[in-house]
Amino acid sequence: MNHHPTPLDLDKDTILELGRHTIDHIATTTAELETAPASHYPPTTHHHELRRPPADEPGDFTTLLETFRQAATHGVNTAGPGYLAYFPAGGLISSALADLLAQAANRFTGVAQTAPALVAIEQGILTWLAQRFGLPPGAAGLITTGASPATLSAVVAARHTHLGDDHRHGTLYVTEHTHHSVAKAARIAGLPTTSIRLVPSDNHLRMDPDAAAHLITTDRAQGRHPFLLAATAGTTSTGTIDPLPQLAALARRENLWYHVDAAYGGGFQLTTRGRTRLTGIEHADSIAFDPHKSLFLPYGTGVLLVRDPRHLHAAHAADADYLQDIDRLGDLPDFGNLGVELTRDYRGLRLWLPLHLHGVRAFEQALDEKLDLATEAHRELRADPRLDVPWDPDLTVIVFRARAGDTASRDLLTAINATGRVYLSSTTLGGRFYLRMCVLSVRTRPHHVRRALDTIREALDDLQLSSSERG
Ligand SMILES: *Cc1c(COP(=O)(O)O)cnc(C)c1O
Repeated sequence: MNHHPTPLDLDKDTILELGRHTIDHIATTTAELETAPASHYPPTTHHHELRRPPADEPGDFTTLLETFRQAATHGVNTAGPGYLAYFPAGGLISSALADLLAQAANRFTGVAQTAPALVAIEQGILTWLAQRFGLPPGAAGLITTGASPATLSAVVAARHTHLGDDHRHGTLYVTEHTHHSVAKAARIAGLPTTSIRLVPSDNHLRMDPDAAAHLITTDRAQGRHPFLLAATAGTTSTGTIDPLPQLAALARRENLWYHVDAAYGGGFQLTTRGRTRLTGIEHADSIAFDPHKSLFLPYGTGVLLVRDPRHLHAAHAADADYLQDIDRLGDLPDFGNLGVELTRDYRGLRLWLPLHLHGVRAFEQALDEKLDLATEAHRELRADPRLDVPWDPDLTVIVFRARAGDTASRDLLTAINATGRVYLSSTTLGGRFYLRMCVLSVRTRPHHVRRALDTIREALDDLQLSSSERG
């Protein structure tokens, strides 16, 4: 028998050597994040070179690692402390290491039988999360790649439960501030565009429960079939929390599936302030939550929690002859029957390792720090007469604009981001342009927020913006 090693299956010494290079690289680049620019768009790009197809002959690992290192420096530094745009998380290295372990172990967790103990680890994280959200015993869920697929499975479960096979007249309720993933999920789930019903928001950008009740009544009278109410616990543009208890009561009264999109806000449930502000979320039939936002995890980790997993199972489970060897293992879930994927990467470890390694209190303290920093940033921005800061933050998103108008606000954003010290994003509210700052990265500490505020004030000085309103 020929026992020549194949070049594809690395031997122990090679794993150690490549691993050392890889871990060196991770340790070095992570330590450099403090001083790395917030964004970097070099004048000459070499995308053509980067698209080069693989050669027949082997390459050199350190050269390939260097190619990756350089490529990763281009664009917005979403891992760095100056990243205050969209939803920063930073990305815990402990979670990245968990991924490396999970991928190297490469066990199959689409069904419980092939890796029961690993499935139990993932299940434990999900039931712990469900309990933190106040869901009743028996609640369960699924770790997805993000809130979008979690929302899709929630909408499919709601549709299956409430509408059966005839979705033509089904309607679901959102506001203009609801994330577009809800409408996208509805479309993928086969619902017509007209199924999306926009409930008016109040002056604080929250869904108006009375307006929702009125719309539902009118829709029913016109032969439509209301089936889902989607509230948001932390909207994408402003981080606003809808009136969750009132909307829960409405959903119950009207026999609708109550979905709460806590993609951004969910992590704050670990804090006292967050729990107070998210009161009412415990009534949800389903919750979408992104650990790659408010649990600081690397991109690619979402969670779907459901009050009654039988609905999720009924909407997604399928069987096939080639799965006939699978024994169902009592209280362990077959994740392949709860969502879109059968084969999946083992995402449980991404949450399990950091939570057990650092302890829950470390997450709570970090999130409390972000709440404090956002409060402080909001107070300072509101004190600047050149800025209009109309809404108090419910969580850690602050929106503001130059009183001098939209063009000035756009110029302000460009000037701030051009410094390379921080990176902010923008949004449009009521037809007006707003700059948007979100304090959420695990690496954004008090001195980074002070630096961001200084950068904003310096840009205002440089642009010589006035304090008078120009609309
Ligand atoms: C980010 C976000 C989503 C989408 O989540 P992905 O993980 O990007 O798919 C949905 N809803 C809200 C409120 C969000 O902030």
